[in-house]
Amino acid sequence: MKKNIRVVATLLLMFSAAQVFADAPPVQKPSSKADIQAALSGGVPMGRWKEGLLFEGVKPMPWLKSAANWFPRTEDVQPEEMRVTFMGTSPSIRPGQMNTSIYVELGNGDNFVFDMGEGSVANYVAAGVALNQISDVFITHLHVDHFGSLPYLWMFGTWAGGWHDRLTVHGPSGRTPEYGVKAMVDGMRKMLGWHIDAFSVFPVGKGWDIQVNEFDFRDNGGIVYEKNGVKVTHWQRSHAKDGASAYRLDWNDMCFVWTGDGRPSKLDVKYAKGCDLYVTEMQPELLEISSGVQGVPPFLGRYTVDTHHTPAYAAGYVANEIQPRMFMTTHMGFDPYQNEEAVAEIRYHWKGPFHFGAPDGIVVNMTKDLVWVREGILPDFPNNRSPQFDFSNGQLIVPLPPTDRTKIQEPFVREQQIDPKKYYPEGYHPVLLEEWPVKSDLVVPLDMLPENLKVNMGAEWRLREKNKKAMEKKGK
Ligand SMILES: [Zn+2]
Ligand SMILES: [Zn+2]
Repeated sequence: MKKNIRVVATLLLMFSAAQVFADAPPVQKPSSKADIQAALSGGVPMGRWKEGLLFEGVKPMPWLKSAANWFPRTEDVQPEEMRVTFMGTSPSIRPGQMNTSIYVELGNGDNFVFDMGEGSVANYVAAGVALNQISDVFITHLHVDHFGSLPYLWMFGTWAGGWHDRLTVHGPSGRTPEYGVKAMVDGMRKMLGWHIDAFSVFPVGKGWDIQVNEFDFRDNGGIVYEKNGVKVTHWQRSHAKDGASAYRLDWNDMCFVWTGDGRPSKLDVKYAKGCDLYVTEMQPELLEISSGVQGVPPFLGRYTVDTHHTPAYAAGYVANEIQPRMFMTTHMGFDPYQNEEAVAEIRYHWKGPFHFGAPDGIVVNMTKDLVWVREGILPDFPNNRSPQFDFSNGQLIVPLPPTDRTKIQEPFVREQQIDPKKYYPEGYHPVLLEEWPVKSDLVVPLDMLPENLKVNMGAEWRLREKNKKAMEKKGK
């Protein structure tokens, strides 16, 4: 039956194709050059479309596969480009909006994570990021909607090849030591005690050796990170409790700011002034209506905003002071009932380029001249990307696991396992790998690595080398 349907469908297709060709119009005398020009470029002032609020410099780059959508793993970050993806966009977690996280990729091959809210890790996977590619996470503050995915990233990122680069968590100190990011990571390590020991039957290398870079939250304008032409600075935000910070990343004469949560502040204007891509959080003045829609009582909403957050009017006000090339807001409900209102309030002060940094998967491509914002198409059922390795040494090194089952499990429960002969079908019995197959680090020269592993696991490394060469050629 199915086969018949296919045959009919094929015939129909062939028939309609034949129709198209049969209907092609006969050749005619070409229109005059003036007529063609008038029709094709009519209404285009000064040689290009400049319409509405799409200002000079806001347009798609020629290398984008689609100007409308970003499809994961179809476009390389260009040598001089900064690409920013919103991996989590809301304080209220829900399927289309995970908790806040922003991924910044640079043409020099470096990448940075700003906040890692609950659930955002799913979007990293969907965006084709191998978890072992992430080595630097900058946390703005310790509300759980900004760091909830860290335990998963650390544990499964280590399992999936995070053996050679330590994960570093950057974040502010607290007013007292127990409230700083270091105390949070110590607590996380304690919480993950069982998991760490259990996963130690796998290759780990330096994976468990998580690093913390805790900076003094009062050191406004201080440098958090400086390496490879990238500089990250920070300043305080007023978010009800000491120990909330904003970040600014500078690279290749371009700048990205994520303020994290907080009340609009003179410090934002001072430290983000003139930044190319300015991202802040925002809440429109819809507290009473929102109470009916979202179920937050108005007094609780009002009090939360007025002590912790940035009203949309204020977001626009601050953007106008900063004058970015692109202004975006995130950490917001992306809902029809409030989107229009939010734009209207932002536009009260800010008349320049603006986009929502929501819902999840919004992608920004930025060079010194151009900036373009698209919706990314993140699949619901993605598979993990292969772990990515730096093959500069010509080898794949798989560290020896620190432990094995006999050291962390009593024999009794292993002895209760059912004999595989009883469940594998007659004539089929895989060779079970019940013990790690080597007694020291496994070192595989690249030419002995199966071709598919070499291609898949070295993709990011090759792109990095390619972009490095392109920049060297340009004399940078
Ligand atoms: Zn938040
Ligand atoms: Zn917060």
